[in-house]
Amino acid sequence: MPLENMKAMLSKAASEDYAVGAFNILDYNSTRAVVLAAEQVKAPVIIQTSAKTVIFWGTSVIISWIRQLTYPSSVPIALHLDHCKDLNLIKECIKSGWTSVMIDASSKPFEENLSLSREVVEIARPKDVTVEAELGAIVGVEDDIHVKEQDAHLADSEQAIKFCAEVKPDCFAPAIGTAHGVYKGEPKIAYDLLKEIAAKTAVPIALHGGTGLADEVFKKCISLGCTKVNISTQLKYAFIDGFVAYHNANNTEYNPLKVIDAQLHQLQAGIVEKIKLFGSAGKAR
Ligand SMILES: [Zn+2]
Repeated sequence: MPLENMKAMLSKAASEDYAVGAFNILDYNSTRAVVLAAEQVKAPVIIQTSAKTVIFWGTSVIISWIRQLTYPSSVPIALHLDHCKDLNLIKECIKSGWTSVMIDASSKPFEENLSLSREVVEIARPKDVTVEAELGAIVGVEDDIHVKEQDAHLADSEQAIKFCAEVKPDCFAPAIGTAHGVYKGEPKIAYDLLKEIAAKTAVPIALHGGTGLADEVFKKCISLGCTKVNISTQLKYAFIDGFVAYHNANNTEYNPLKVIDAQLHQLQAGIVEKIKLFGSAGKAR
């Protein structure tokens, strides 16, 4: 199937109370793991690329894997650019075939975030590309975006309502207490804030910093309005651990294809588990 944007998949998720998993890929093998996992459990899925991954490989290389892997596929798949501050890279991805982009101007003052996010919507919407925008500051390290604990702050609900009314994003990422990377302590999720923002904006909410959250936390966030859940750090670990575990168990064998296969299976199993947890298994139209 050709790639689609996030609009239909997130509105279906909102009306049926589940969330679509958005998984950050790193290379061809990890992209294949996402597609195979989605097909295995017949789920819609979002393939995400960090800005750093796009710069590392280049848009034409990534789009060639994506097309080759997704065209024969029978499940709805979107290709989304995760946290991007660079308008030129956003434009390049849109031109190259990404069906969805995230503008992250959350480190800028509110009015500037609002106008930059609105500009991206104006560029993307005529091309049928969906836009995710962020408000507040999500703690942790994601790609080249570092937010220290003392600089993290939750989204403000009044600002969130104004932001969504004026930007009209297809997906909204308010900071609600989750963190990028690995959690150091028990995360404090602002459920009331999430509930209020989801109800008052009626925009699909993206949950960032999914790795390391307890199953009940995912379920509660989804029940309160999160329809997109990002998983990145977990895949970074599985990517490395899949290699290392196989080599440690077979350390006299130097067969790269077997190592790649072990990595693929480790990634795929983790993705399937998350898709089932988010409730999107069996939801491919
Ligand atoms: Zn994020």
